[in-house]
Amino acid sequence: MIPIPTPINEPVDSHAPGTAPRARLEATLRAMSSAPPLEIPAIIDGKAVRTGKLLPVSMPHQHRRVLAQAHEAGEAEVSAAIDGAMKVATEWARTPFETRAAIFLRAADLLSGPHRARVNAACMLGQSKTPHQSEIDAVCELADFWRFNVHFLRKLHDEQPLSPAGQWNRSDLRPLEGFVFAIAPFNFLSIAANLPTAPVLCGNVALWKPSTTSLFGCWYVLEILREAGLPDGVIQLVPGEGPVQGRVALSSPHLAGIHFTGSTGTFKALWRGVADNLDRYRSFPRLVGETGGKDFILAHASAEPISLATAIVRGGFEYQGQKCSAASRVYVPRSLWPEVRDRAVADTKQMKVGDVSDFSTFCGAVIDQRAYQRIAGYQKLAHDSAKVLVGGTSDDSEGWFIAPTLVEVDDPKHRLMQEEIFGPVVTVYVYDDARWDETLALVDQTSPYALTGAVISRDRHAVEQATRALRNSAGNFYVNDKPTGAVVGQQPFGGGRQSGTNDKAGAFYNLSRWLSPRSIKETFVPPTDFRYPYLGESK
Ligand code: NAD
Repeated sequence: MIPIPTPINEPVDSHAPGTAPRARLEATLRAMSSAPPLEIPAIIDGKAVRTGKLLPVSMPHQHRRVLAQAHEAGEAEVSAAIDGAMKVATEWARTPFETRAAIFLRAADLLSGPHRARVNAACMLGQSKTPHQSEIDAVCELADFWRFNVHFLRKLHDEQPLSPAGQWNRSDLRPLEGFVFAIAPFNFLSIAANLPTAPVLCGNVALWKPSTTSLFGCWYVLEILREAGLPDGVIQLVPGEGPVQGRVALSSPHLAGIHFTGSTGTFKALWRGVADNLDRYRSFPRLVGETGGKDFILAHASAEPISLATAIVRGGFEYQGQKCSAASRVYVPRSLWPEVRDRAVADTKQMKVGDVSDFSTFCGAVIDQRAYQRIAGYQKLAHDSAKVLVGGTSDDSEGWFIAPTLVEVDDPKHRLMQEEIFGPVVTVYVYDDARWDETLALVDQTSPYALTGAVISRDRHAVEQATRALRNSAGNFYVNDKPTGAVVGQQPFGGGRQSGTNDKAGAFYNLSRWLSPRSIKETFVPPTDFRYPYLGESK
């Protein structure tokens, strides 16, 4: 197989004042936010399908401003999308690796080049991300997914069995028989796009169901894929609210896999749906799900207080705490707490909450009314049963704004220490310095999730202890860093327990789930006598 370009991580643009990318992004934001609502059809067999059943997509930080109207795909459209995908499946599966790879490498260059400002602006407006949060997600991580997946798939092709003298053994990396149902969360455009494209790069066809709240950005990503040469029908776009798409897709005999990222509850419902339909399927569907988290920061008494405070507020409040990896429960030794608390509170007070088109904003709005009400409910719980150190307020008059909120609890098993909040609420439990060993056990046993976690310590022995004791408490474990910000090719991402199947998006582990290897043995000179030597007569 011919070599491919060596991938490097897409450099993050600073968007600092006075730079050309900053000027381009500001101009694009102005144009996009004053344009009339975009119409987003379902895309079936490459054609726009308008059902007239419209789903509004609005700006979280100005919730009355509708950015797009999406046509919901109903049962008939989802069935048509499955039929259409199956029609092109054989041809796409036969398309050589190099051709498939070229499409995604070109898409990555289109995204990081001419379409960078457009995709960033769409992600900022549609998902309320600041320029930095959008840049690291919608541009850098997505370009990385596309380039690194090509690299990892190439390596998987290189992984071939032994061929002793007289025979030739090969692994034929077939895609799955059927279609992959790619179901995306609202919070990362890169993940939303990787869910269909990772299986598609491997030669599969996919049904793509983005979250309605991220459809604005997803639409521009799909346009890039089409411009890059992705053939019609290979990815079918079926916008909708979930259950309808789920019912139709899960009852199809051709369901070959589910590539899901979202909440644990939804993934469990999908898994149950697959179990209920098990007798219908031609093959056992592959179930890959990256789900919720209750991510921790554990500080040792040797931690440096200022970097600890920075890890807490950055890890907890960037993108309004709506990262699956966001720091949400923090364990700080009593001896450090006054300094850490004062610094974290002071930093949080400086974080401006508001419209992300204003580049002095640190936190935009949370994604929608449902999220706003859920998070405000946790703020109320904090006021009622814990100590709110900073924040604790919310305002939905213009946008879904939640003030970054730092809470201290006395009970390490408080609900705020256990449940995924998925918003800018960080809860701290202060432990006695002498109770380090017990605290390690607490961190491991307090939440059902095991996605990300961090230990902050200058004592190497304590780092080793935490690394050992928390081996199964997080799929991504950080030492002296915040628990967010995994980079493709550097920290393969995913968690265990109730956080998912830990198949590590953007790594060869994940790609291997979309392949069904066929082992081929070819014998050059076959035997012509059925008798083995031991059957001969003894002399
Ligand atoms: P969600 O579970 O509410 O929705 C995810 C997707 O599933 C949406 O597109 C939704 O429409 C769809 N859906 C819902 N019911 C369905 C059904 N019956 N059939 C088919 N599709 C259905 O999640 P969300 O609010 O969009 O995202 C937030 C969650 O995602 C959090 O729990 C977060 O931790 C998790 N997440 C995890 C990771 C990770 O890598 N582990 C990354 C990002 C987000």
